[in-house]
Amino acid sequence: MIEFSFVIPVYNEEDNLSQLHEELQRVVHQIGQPCEVIWIDDGSKDSSLDRVKQMAAEHPEYRFISFERNCGQSGALAAGFDAARGEYVITMDSDLQNNPLDILNMIPYLGKYDMVTGWRKDRHDTWWKKFSSRFANGVRNWLSRETIKDTGCSLKIMKTSYLKKIKMYKGLHRFLPTLMKMEGATVIEVPVSHRPRTRGVSKYGTWDRAFSGLRDLLAVRWMQDRNISYQIKEASDELSSGEAR
Ligand code: UDP
Ligand code: MG
Repeated sequence: MIEFSFVIPVYNEEDNLSQLHEELQRVVHQIGQPCEVIWIDDGSKDSSLDRVKQMAAEHPEYRFISFERNCGQSGALAAGFDAARGEYVITMDSDLQNNPLDILNMIPYLGKYDMVTGWRKDRHDTWWKKFSSRFANGVRNWLSRETIKDTGCSLKIMKTSYLKKIKMYKGLHRFLPTLMKMEGATVIEVPVSHRPRTRGVSKYGTWDRAFSGLRDLLAVRWMQDRNISYQIKEASDELSSGEAR
């Protein structure tokens, strides 16, 4: 039985994959429980897919999915969630901005919480990106009545059974803590490290992220307001009694 499924979206990250692979190997060894690593090539135009295939050929715990064309980070994550066989899913970026070692500090929260999500307390991005992200988090929290400091942090561990209930749409990877809570999951945010991107380029501009982010936020707010939550008092079918959603 697999305990952890790493789900890692890759879009034109050829220069980052070798180091990430080495770091992952170390962490998987330290975790000491059965893991699988699912690489999702999101239609890369560089040699990322070749590198992923090569790694998968050498490591039986590595699997990969390759998209015909770029679908976006949420799409790549959705494919990984569908494929995951572990009890928990661990998500992270493939550009080395997340440090897989932080996972070791996150795992102890499992059991008490269904989701442990990273907070890049000391973030290594441009001042403009940090500013716009802080602003976006503020608006997001205000409209979705949340208190998540850093929902954009990709380093997350989530109980797979909850994730499998969530229908992903483009952009919704930024709202996973809220979507998990809507399914009844308990969530804790813990500080994690963050590194500057040294190779490859960011796939997002500020304004496209801001505008699509606002549209997505309105959709999430609507989902929250219209969320179905019930507790069964009595039912003819004994399997349903006491069930809640
Ligand atoms: N990514 C992806 N598909 C996309 C855009 C990004 O799979 O269409 C991946 C990318 O390879 C990286 C992660 O999502 O592993 C986060 O992207 P990026 O580092 O560009 O975001 P930023 O750190 O600038 O917010
Ligand atoms: Mg990045």
